[in-house]
Amino acid sequence: MKNNIFLLAFSFILFGCSTTEEMKINPRSLWNAAEPKPFENHIPERITIHHEGTRFEKGGDAPKHIKNVQTWGMGKDRNWADIPYHFLIDPDGNIFEGRNVFTTGETATEYDPTGHLLITLMGNFEEQEVSEEQLNALINLTAYCCEKYNISSETIASHRDHSAQTVCPGKNLYFNYIKNGYLKDKVKELIK
Ligand SMILES: [Zn+2]
Repeated sequence: MKNNIFLLAFSFILFGCSTTEEMKINPRSLWNAAEPKPFENHIPERITIHHEGTRFEKGGDAPKHIKNVQTWGMGKDRNWADIPYHFLIDPDGNIFEGRNVFTTGETATEYDPTGHLLITLMGNFEEQEVSEEQLNALINLTAYCCEKYNISSETIASHRDHSAQTVCPGKNLYFNYIKNGYLKDKVKELIK
């Protein structure tokens, strides 16, 4: 028993800073995802942060909202293959699986999302603040994706860094956590 405790403590020292083991990602089945249409494949090589753009509060029905985003995106307005993002994070810090990471995301603006791994925070950060839970989940998920898909933390940026046609991911997310390097620095601390 004593040895087991020692081993447990030792493995925490060895692996405690790795985010990979602890990441809880809710599968597509949890939000009742429809099957995707045929899609373009790609290899993710950079991380691009978005906001979903609709005001969304803590305690809201995230699976229902995500399903609505997929239904709208695959409908006649956009005719996308699937929900546009690879991962979504709600204001309570829950992480949801979006489209397959090895398929190219979608955008309504002029940049080419090929090679971009798209993480979106649910909410509108022109109006809302990022909650502590949501921010922590963003840091952990971004570090996890950098490690798992062998993506450099130097590539972490946001939609508006790649497109002149949008304020996405909203000023309160962009200026407080992305433009000033905060997210990048926190991710680097986790993966070094
Ligand atoms: Zn965006």
